[in-house]
Formats: sequence, structure tokens, C-alpha cells
Amino acid sequence: ELTDITTLLLSRIRDVADYPEPGVMFKDITPLLADPAAFTALTDALAEIAVRAEATKIVGLEARGFILGAPVAVRAGIGFIPVRKAGKLPGATLSQAYDLEYGSAEIEVHAEDLSADDRVLVVDDVLATGGTAEASLQLIRRAGAEVAGVAVLMELGFLGGRGRLEPALAGAPLEAL
Ligand code: AMP
Repeated sequence: ELTDITTLLLSRIRDVADYPEPGVMFKDITPLLADPAAFTALTDALAEIAVRAEATKIVGLEARGFILGAPVAVRAGIGFIPVRKAGKLPGATLSQAYDLEYGSAEIEVHAEDLSADDRVLVVDDVLATGGTAEASLQLIRRAGAEVAGVAVLMELGFLGGRGRLEPALAGAPLEAL
């Protein structure tokens, strides 16, 4: 049973087969971003999760997590922190490497953006294998802050990201709209 909001959001996500490589069904959120009713509904739903989780900061994952997370932070009245691919942040950073299917990747955060007083909600568009979100939770904990949870528009359940994230979540919620 889908709610009206879920139906609206689903109707604005475009499935693109074999992008960026054969075998991947890419979830394109640009139609949702272009529709103010859908983008507002998504922002409000994620902000509600942030408020319920008593988050003090939103971490957005490059790049679509920036687009979704920034208005959520404003709506919830809390700060926004970008977690970027390595080499993009000018200040002192913490970095975290993680494994991809082929090779590895690295993400970074400005160390001074997080403190022990913070409860952080991670926002992204799609949870796939969970590798990126897991690395971001490790960064948050290494910075001394608390994890308030992970909130995504979509979870690709067949990739098992939820299970992979479980240890890093340590009881904090993973919410997929
Ligand atoms: P993962 O680390 O495997 O959970 O991948 C998550 C990141 O890759 C997210 O930032 C997503 O935006 C992106 N991503 C992975 N799979 C897809 C997909 N099928 N459609 C759109 N974005 C995806």
C-alpha cells in the first residue's frame, strides 16, 4: 500500500537501463528535482526524519546528496556538511577509503565541521551497496560525533546495503522513502 507521497515521488523517478554501464538500472531523479511539488514533498519528508531523529547536522553525500540534503538542513533549521570525493575540500580533512566492486574510492569531510555535540543524519538519493554511506558513518564517528541515522529516497534492496550498514548504524535508523 503506497501513500500519495510515495506514489508522487515514484512517478518522478526515471529508470534508465544500462547506464552508466551494462546491467545497471540507473535511478534518475532529475524529473523529481524539476517538479516543485515533488521536490518539496521529498524535502519535507526528509526534514521530518531529521527532526524526529533530533539531528543537529545533515551530511550530504556528493553529488546528489548535496542537492537533496541542503534544503532538508534549511527546512529543519540545522547545518549542512558536504562529504566529498577525495581532493575537493580545501581545509584539514578526515578521509575514509572504501571498496568498490572494482577498485576503491575515498571520501572526505572537513574535520572542524563536526564535534562531539553533533548528531548527524546522512542524506543521499540512492542506497545501493551501502559502501558510500558506510564510509560516511565511519567518518562521522571518527570525527567524534554521533550517528542519528541514514535517510535516502530509494533503497535498492537486492544489493544488500541495509545489512552492510547495520554495524556502522549501531541501532540508528536507516529510512528509505
Ligand atoms: P553505494 O555506495 O553502492 O550504496 O552507491 C551509492 C551511490 O551511488 C549513491 O550516491 C548513488 O547516488 C549512486 N548509485 C548507485 N547505484 C545507483 C543507481 N542504480 N541509480 C542511481 N544512483 C546510484
